Amino acid sequence: MKVPFVDLRSMHLAIKDELQEVFDRVLSNSSFVLGEEVQRFEQEFADYVGTRHCVAVNTGTAALHLTLASLEIGPGDEIITVPHTFIATAEAISAVGARPVFIDIDPISFTMDPALLEAAITDKTRAIIPVDLYGQIADMERIQEIADRYGIPIIEDACQAHGAEYKGRMAGSFGLAGCFSFYPGKNLGACGEGGAVTTNDAELARKIRLWRDHGSSKRYEHVFPGLNMRMEGLQGGILSVKLKYLDHWNDQRRIAAAQYDAALAGTDIETPVEMNYNRHVYHLYVVQSAKRQQLREQLIESGIESGLHYPTPLHLQEAYRSLGYKQGDFPVTERIKDRILSLPMYPGICSDAITRVVSELKEGCYVG
Ligand SMILES: *Cc1c(COP(=O)(O)O)cnc(C)c1O
Repeated sequence: MKVPFVDLRSMHLAIKDELQEVFDRVLSNSSFVLGEEVQRFEQEFADYVGTRHCVAVNTGTAALHLTLASLEIGPGDEIITVPHTFIATAEAISAVGARPVFIDIDPISFTMDPALLEAAITDKTRAIIPVDLYGQIADMERIQEIADRYGIPIIEDACQAHGAEYKGRMAGSFGLAGCFSFYPGKNLGACGEGGAVTTNDAELARKIRLWRDHGSSKRYEHVFPGLNMRMEGLQGGILSVKLKYLDHWNDQRRIAAAQYDAALAGTDIETPVEMNYNRHVYHLYVVQSAKRQQLREQLIESGIESGLHYPTPLHLQEAYRSLGYKQGDFPVTERIKDRILSLPMYPGICSDAITRVVSELKEGCYVG
């Protein structure tokens, strides 16, 4: 029995008729870019997250980029984020010409360590971007308390946390803005690329709308040179359909995580910790082991896919060599990079598959 890392097909097959209707509708109304499909999704997603506004864009990277651009952040400015994330978080900072300033993560939650935040703030700090990694929201209350004292806005990278909750509040509702990706493999994914910004700030939402569409609110009238980062109508329609199932799919991920937790209890494989203030949505199920490499090989041999998120921290990437960081700068990030292993996780993963994965892992613990 092969076990894939992610299986999107069964999820889509279950709602194939509804998705087909969207394709048919968009083909017949030719609302291919923005338009009513996207507007409807924006309203529904804002309601879901609990913010007044949602602006749909074409990727999660664009959501972050246009939020920073709308705040007029640029060269000479510093943005604090973490080195243990997907590179897009930092790329958005680079895209506006600002400088990413990294601080380490907490070893239990894998998210920004609030205890390290204050020391990283300078008079050039213009924003803080905590990342809701693997499906769990960063410790927002503690981060917000420090950010407020310095009057620095928080931009939440919620690209891995659609539907997660922190003390009863939804991912994407913290700070000034929440940024989402709808890349197909995310908890809420399009059938292609997609992204969105959620915010309560009407002026920020207005500016991002201009930015995504050539600085234009009226055809061929441009108030500044913007970009083309619009969401496609098809993706808006598909996301409206899939949003209705998000909570159900997240519940399935939580059930799978609970099965992994129980089956791995008592082994020397460390399972992920759901912080007591969070409702984790397990975008990824990431375990830790000193024998990571061995376990990964054992899984490969048995036809089980796994992932590494992420094998090289951002401060050690060639892309960010010019920032001048070196090995040893972020001990928690550097320690876990050789220990983490992402196990198969997707809505509807069957319990037999999980049993298989765990028995191979246990096998792997004893060899070598
Ligand atoms: C996926 C992701 C992004 C970028 O999203 P894209 O839609 O691929 O551009 C940004 N940050 C994090 C943490 C992500 O996981």
